[in-house]
Amino acid sequence: MTQYTPSRRHLLGVAASGIAAAPFLSGPATARNIAASAPPKAEGQPMPRGTRLPASPPPAPKGQSIGVAIVGLGGYALNQIMPRIAEADHCHLAAVVSGNAEKAATVAAAYGLPEDAIYSYDSYEEIAGDDRIDAVYVILPTGLHTEFVLKAFTAGKHVICEKPMALTSAECEDMIAAGKAADRKLMIGYRCHFEPYNLKAMELIREEALGPLRVIRTAHHYRSGPSTPATNWRHNRALAGGGPLEDYGLYGIQAGLYLSGEMPVRISASTQQPANDPRFAEIFAHTASQMIFPSGATSQHSTSYDGAGANMVTVRGQTGFLTMEPATGYGGHEMMLRKGRSTETLTPGNPSIQFAAMLDHFGLSVMEGTEILTPGEMGLRDTRLIEAIYRSAETGRTMALNPDATMTED
Ligand code: NDP
Repeated sequence: MTQYTPSRRHLLGVAASGIAAAPFLSGPATARNIAASAPPKAEGQPMPRGTRLPASPPPAPKGQSIGVAIVGLGGYALNQIMPRIAEADHCHLAAVVSGNAEKAATVAAAYGLPEDAIYSYDSYEEIAGDDRIDAVYVILPTGLHTEFVLKAFTAGKHVICEKPMALTSAECEDMIAAGKAADRKLMIGYRCHFEPYNLKAMELIREEALGPLRVIRTAHHYRSGPSTPATNWRHNRALAGGGPLEDYGLYGIQAGLYLSGEMPVRISASTQQPANDPRFAEIFAHTASQMIFPSGATSQHSTSYDGAGANMVTVRGQTGFLTMEPATGYGGHEMMLRKGRSTETLTPGNPSIQFAAMLDHFGLSVMEGTEILTPGEMGLRDTRLIEAIYRSAETGRTMALNPDATMTED
């Protein structure tokens, strides 16, 4: 394999990311700007099935902490983030924002929040006058992220925004600019950067425990049940973009970047959208993509909403092989390192600390004014890569990339 010397800019993708508009956005129609069935609108939803609320309100945080308002009481907010806030030392729950008043009242009571700490989407902007709220955590369908992040900055609050950051790089640029203008932090909820197995994998590759990197492969698949764009936002283009890539496949793209430590110079991809399947009336069912790095290493990614379950990352170097399966979930990670004839099972820590570690990083960054590890610029970078993937799939061409992930040509 040819060895190139990566340029500094290609190695520093996030830091080097400018906020100039991606050229293709003003170009011809692409798969990602086909008209969707309806514009995105924030609307309350029922309590997610299987939600378990705390039997008693969580204790106050141990350390100095910031007050966080959760925006959108869906599955991820109620079953992962809100229970983990109690495990964090530097964040505490200050308010909830929901379109379902009854659900919000039930959740607020379970978490010991007063009634005046419940906001609706209509009263959201009133958080500006609520000093209990230092920051909001936007956990809404993706197509709504921009609106609620921009309003939070106008209200003078710091923001964590769930991944994917937004559906277009232009929206990401708006969010970053608004955060800077308001002098407020913007973090993307990329929890794997705080998860012990993924951190160990980064360390092993950085130290060349596998020898020089050759190929990363990731698979993020599941099979969605009966759904239509009207019944499930993940199948609705205005709320979810192109589908599995933005939602599940993004973990693989992220892993390719944080494990290689490089920015791709070229990207190629294909998508599939089966006919006559209501689940895929507006989104793709599968996306496969490949990133080529300046070192010559490659990163290959598949993702699907119609494939047997997979959550896997493998890394092959010149002399060693690392597998993680599951690799990027909430827990249950497994990791194996193979070198020559020796195989070692690694257990670097409890994956579930990723949530509290991410929240603590955010809280400390807000309080101490320190850099965010997964800032808006990282979300912008990834959104540009997603745009390049769809552009490649649409044109059948390999897209050449600048170090800030913009395409060099349309
Ligand atoms: P859910 O469908 O479970 O919940 C979304 C919530 O958003 C709803 O319950 C509702 O809350 C609110 N909402 C407002 N408007 C709408 C609308 N038009 N359609 C649907 N919901 C609406 O989604 P998730 O919790 O799974 O995902 C939310 C976000 O979190 C997404 O950005 C997703 O990518 C991200 N996520 C991240 C994960 C991670 O591991 N980092 C894992 C899972 C999701 P209410 O009723 O309170 O108004």
